[in-house]
Amino acid sequence: MKPLVMIVEDEDALVTLLRYNLEKEGYRSASAGDGEEALMMIKEETPDLILLDWMLPLTSGIEVCRQLRRQPETRDVPIIMLTARGEEGDKVRGLNSGADDYITKPFSPNELMARVRAVLRRAQPALSADVLEFEDLSMDLAAHRVKRGQRNVHLGPTEYRLLHHLLQHPGRVFSREQLLDAVWGHDVYVEPRTVDVHIRRLRKALNDNEDADLIRTVRAAGYALDHPGEALEE
Ligand code: CA
Repeated sequence: MKPLVMIVEDEDALVTLLRYNLEKEGYRSASAGDGEEALMMIKEETPDLILLDWMLPLTSGIEVCRQLRRQPETRDVPIIMLTARGEEGDKVRGLNSGADDYITKPFSPNELMARVRAVLRRAQPALSADVLEFEDLSMDLAAHRVKRGQRNVHLGPTEYRLLHHLLQHPGRVFSREQLLDAVWGHDVYVEPRTVDVHIRRLRKALNDNEDADLIRTVRAAGYALDHPGEALEE
């Protein structure tokens, strides 16, 4: 399915322009004129990206952003703030409230579309994939099945989520804290060492007999899914 971009903006002319450009680029779009309407619509279908105006009637864009970040379903949805303000302090406030990027009005549709593509790529490189693959490893998201070559790999729910996250960003090194946020959630307090325990279990499940280790331990930094040559470094 095409990615859904939600526009939260009270200027009708801008909404029309954005929807036109998004659909031309192959995205689906939806729009809401204020924060309350947006939050209700987002409950119906979680968008892949939200374009959020700062100056909205009733609830401000910043407050909507905070609310979205508090809810588990929308915690990881990328948000680009749209605003007429250009001051550095506002930019910092926007990013602190949980926005991923920020664009100052007036902007050209081309500039915004470039940001949309970049943010979506960063957030979900495998947005439309049903199967994530790396080397001889595959994860079938629909069937919830992991295979190494022809062998079925049985994973606990935490190891599954951990591998899912690593498979979405092969080669990238994640700190224990980043993995905790991504896999366990921001609000859960878990010892960073817990990550090591689950990585060990994941390794054990993935690496059978002669299989090369695909998980690279980066001392003092964290872990990455990587090609076996890289994994042997440590
Ligand atoms: Ca506005």
